Amino acid sequence: MKIFCVGRNYSEHAKELGNNVPGNPVIFLKPDTAILKNNLPFFMPDFSQNIQHEVELVIRINKLGKKIEERFAKNYYNEIGLGIDFTARDLQNDLKSKGLPWELAKAFDNSAPLGDFVSLNKLSNPINFSLKKNGKTVQQGNASEMIFGFDKIISFISQYFTLKIGDLIYTGTPAGVSEVKIGDKLEGYIEDQLMLNCNVK
Ligand code: ZN
Repeated sequence: MKIFCVGRNYSEHAKELGNNVPGNPVIFLKPDTAILKNNLPFFMPDFSQNIQHEVELVIRINKLGKKIEERFAKNYYNEIGLGIDFTARDLQNDLKSKGLPWELAKAFDNSAPLGDFVSLNKLSNPINFSLKKNGKTVQQGNASEMIFGFDKIISFISQYFTLKIGDLIYTGTPAGVSEVKIGDKLEGYIEDQLMLNCNVK
C-alpha cells in the first residue's frame, strides 16, 4: 500500500508557509508505517521540537489503474476519509533550505493518523472539513478551495505511479496549521461528523 500526499494544495496554506502556488501538484510519499489507525494516541518523537498538524481529506483508491485520464478518475474512488499529515516543521524547514528531500520531516512512524471513511454519495458537494484542537476549531477547509481537485490529483499521480486498491492520497491541508504539544486533543470532522480523534502524548 502506498500513501501519497499533496503539498501546497490550498493557496492560503501555501502563503502561510511562504511558498508559491505550484503549477503542478507537489507530491510526496509516506510509507505504510506512517499510518496510525483506530484513534490511537500520537507520541511526540524526540527528533523534532515543532510537530504541526495538517488536517486533510483522504482518497482511498478502489481500482487498479495507471495513466488515468482526469475524466475517468471518478471510477477509481468512492469514499473519502479524514487524516492528519503530521509534519516536523523544524526538520522540514532545514531540509527545504538545503534543497534536500522531505522524508525525515514527513514520513516518520505514525505521521499519518487516519480516521473513518464515508461514501461520496452521502456527502454534500463540495465537502467541508475541519480540525479542532482542545475543543477550538483551528483549521477549516472546503474541497472547492483545492488548487488541484481529486480527479486532477489522481490523473497526475497515475502518470508516474500505478495506483492499486487501498492506496491512499492525502489531498493537502488548508490554512491554520499549528504546533501540537503533549496533552493536546485533536478532533477531525467531515461536515459535522466526527471522523478522527488523536491525543498527543
Ligand atoms: Zn500535508
